[in-house]
Amino acid sequence: MSATIIDGKAHAAALRARVAGEAARLKSEHGVIPGLATVLVGDDPASEVYVRNKNKTAQALGFNSVHRHLPGTASEAEVLGEVRALNGDKSVHGILVQLPLPGQIREEAVLDALDPAKDVDALTPTNAGLLLSGRARLVSCTPMGVMILLRETLGAITGLDALVIGRSLLFGKPAAQLLLAANATVTMAHSKTRDLPALARRADILIAAIGRAHYVKGDWVKPGATVIDVGINRVPSGGAGTDTGEGRTRLVGDVDTDEAAKVARFITPVPGGVGAMTIVCLMRNTLIAAAAQAGLPAPEV
Ligand code: NAP
Repeated sequence: MSATIIDGKAHAAALRARVAGEAARLKSEHGVIPGLATVLVGDDPASEVYVRNKNKTAQALGFNSVHRHLPGTASEAEVLGEVRALNGDKSVHGILVQLPLPGQIREEAVLDALDPAKDVDALTPTNAGLLLSGRARLVSCTPMGVMILLRETLGAITGLDALVIGRSLLFGKPAAQLLLAANATVTMAHSKTRDLPALARRADILIAAIGRAHYVKGDWVKPGATVIDVGINRVPSGGAGTDTGEGRTRLVGDVDTDEAAKVARFITPVPGGVGAMTIVCLMRNTLIAAAAQAGLPAPEV
């Protein structure tokens, strides 16, 4: 058996078209143009690429796109001042502070300053709590992208055993809540979990968000399972790939895809799987935030 590859790019393109359609409707019927602000502190090259892609996608969808770039030496007070100014800017409906931040700035202080209505990464305690309470307004982008892939690939997931490896605020915790809300039976694993391979072999849905290249092996996968690989790891590559100045590298996931694909029914590739969904989900959140701030019902996307 060889797994069907879940084409994240195709699912992302379909979602993007739905977001573009609803954004056009919001503008023509209500005069509302969704606005996304990105805040980058410092010059980390990977963060710069992420932020640039987010702004480009927002612009391509006809959103207002605002970018604030502060030096790596910026103080916490300066970053908080920027966030508060954007909180008060009516043309901005979503604010994304690119993480990680330089050491002198406390991430919690920045998240606490962020207006939860504009928290399109859904990292504030308010949005995390609303998700836990079953009253989510904005949901973290990567878990949302995974749920859309699962829904569009499997339909209902009621009663299925799901294992989420990784318990970060950004992915693992919200992903587990969303799976639970969709009636999966959810297990969460982390670095202290005992006998991870045995747990993994019971999972109908196996989700890896660890940050370790090819950590999940083919013989961890239950035959017929759906494997979702969230990991993005840069590894040296002989020949093909991107030259980063430290030799050629390529992106791989947390799962040994070739081996896992021999056992699974569905599997996401890296790149071209979950990652393709994340930016579009950010745009979806910005659209939802814009509608909510205009007092309109949530768009059907
Ligand atoms: P993170 O905050 O570093 O969390 C990693 C999690 O993996 C932690 O909960 C950690 O456990 C767990 N872990 C580490 N080693 C483990 C092991 N040997 N066995 C079991 N669990 C282990 O990372 P993250 O932000 O969630 O991201 C995870 C990966 O997803 C990264 O590769 C990241 O680049 C990628 N990512 C991709 C997207 C996308 O758009 N595709 C978005 C976000 C993240 P402890 O809690 O016990 O330390």
